[in-house]
Amino acid sequence: MCKCSKTYRDDKPHHECGVLGIYGVQDAANLAYYGLHALQHRGQQGCGIVSVDSEGVFHRVKGDGLVTEVFNEQRMSVLTGNMAIGHVRYSNAGCKGVENIQPFLFHHNSGDFAMANNGSIVNYRQLRMELEDKGSLFQSSSDAEVLAHLIKKQGAYNNVPRIVAIKDALNQMDGAYAFLIMTGRRIYACRDKYGFHPLAIGKLGDGYVVASETCAFDVLGAEYIRDVEPGEIVTIDHHGVRSQFYSEPERHAMCAMEYVYFARPDSDIEGCNVHNYRKESGKLLFHEAPADADIVIGVPDSSLSAAQGYAEASGLPYEMGLIKNKYIGRTFILPTQELREKGVKMKLSPVKTIVKGKRVVLVDDSIVRGTTSLKIVNMLREAGAAEVHVRIASAPLKYTCYYGVDVHTPKELISNSNDVDQVCKLIGADSLAFLSHEGMLKAGHRDDLCLACFNHKYPTKLYEE
Ligand code: SF4
Repeated sequence: MCKCSKTYRDDKPHHECGVLGIYGVQDAANLAYYGLHALQHRGQQGCGIVSVDSEGVFHRVKGDGLVTEVFNEQRMSVLTGNMAIGHVRYSNAGCKGVENIQPFLFHHNSGDFAMANNGSIVNYRQLRMELEDKGSLFQSSSDAEVLAHLIKKQGAYNNVPRIVAIKDALNQMDGAYAFLIMTGRRIYACRDKYGFHPLAIGKLGDGYVVASETCAFDVLGAEYIRDVEPGEIVTIDHHGVRSQFYSEPERHAMCAMEYVYFARPDSDIEGCNVHNYRKESGKLLFHEAPADADIVIGVPDSSLSAAQGYAEASGLPYEMGLIKNKYIGRTFILPTQELREKGVKMKLSPVKTIVKGKRVVLVDDSIVRGTTSLKIVNMLREAGAAEVHVRIASAPLKYTCYYGVDVHTPKELISNSNDVDQVCKLIGADSLAFLSHEGMLKAGHRDDLCLACFNHKYPTKLYEE
């Protein structure tokens, strides 16, 4: 994650990144291209691929934009070799610049290596300051670069094997990370000891794939093997897949927002399919907060599974009351409130004949600032809905995230300073209810998840800026 100051553009949290690695497959970069395309929802503002050829020479292409915009036939032709890692990123306005687009490539007399990360190191500033005091020069504002410096510092002074240097470096970093490190001969896949973000391994022919989400495996025809465990380093090379733990796992704090909003519904995260999680959360939401209504509709796309679950549990018809414009592409920051309101209408339209005269249950995955919820409720009323009962398939979002997710600052979050009744009034709904913290765990049959942006229980120490 880039460590510049944040600015926000719309009314949803954003993931910072997705990573993908291919080992031992001909033209690995071409497969990485398709895999990154499947991970595009995790970051749309920049992407890159680094490959290694049979001579151990590294090749890199990266740039601002979507996977289909950055890569073309000519650019792909330089990415030769049977090993590649790739990255898609979301950045904020202060962090633009090609120097912050991953994978990073480092040249060193002990051998070149490339690196890509999904997550955020919470003690980044302390580590960077220590390293700079000892003479390190940083090229970017990304915390992924800190790992490279830590690995090389350790290896350079003690002449230790690379895996030992990586383990030592990882143990100095606190926070959320899912790193791929590629040397001339192997790929290391490392996950933080809390297991904040997903990282899974698949088999592809005689080779392997590692990806932030299993939806990439389906596109590539790879077979899921297992997840990288919290605190584990998986080494993938000509010996196959080998495992070492650099740390005892802490509490297993998978990011709840991965299930609620970020991940694709066709991905499985730690044995739980994302669509199934959302559907189950919708069922639980109905049991916790039934509404006297005629139809259930969801906000496309991420809330449709929860809306289906709510409808199934309630026995109410599940209808398509909102349509999303699929051809919207990326929208820019609209300068006035009036234009921003039109922007929401560009993205979503109510289906008048479905909602007219109906008491509608509107299921959404989360409320951030509440501005979009207000617009959707108004839109449904203008389309003739008799009542609008809003049901949210997660708890009130109240606090910021330090683990690689661009959640707004607390004062921008409508639930930070307003209780449920106040939020209900502010978004103009007839009634409003959120899923409980217990419901969020129960939907995934889990004992633990990171719920820090909902309950302020941060799994790690938070370091002074
Ligand atoms: S604080 Fe929220 S968004 Fe961040 S990792 Fe935890 S659950 Fe996910």
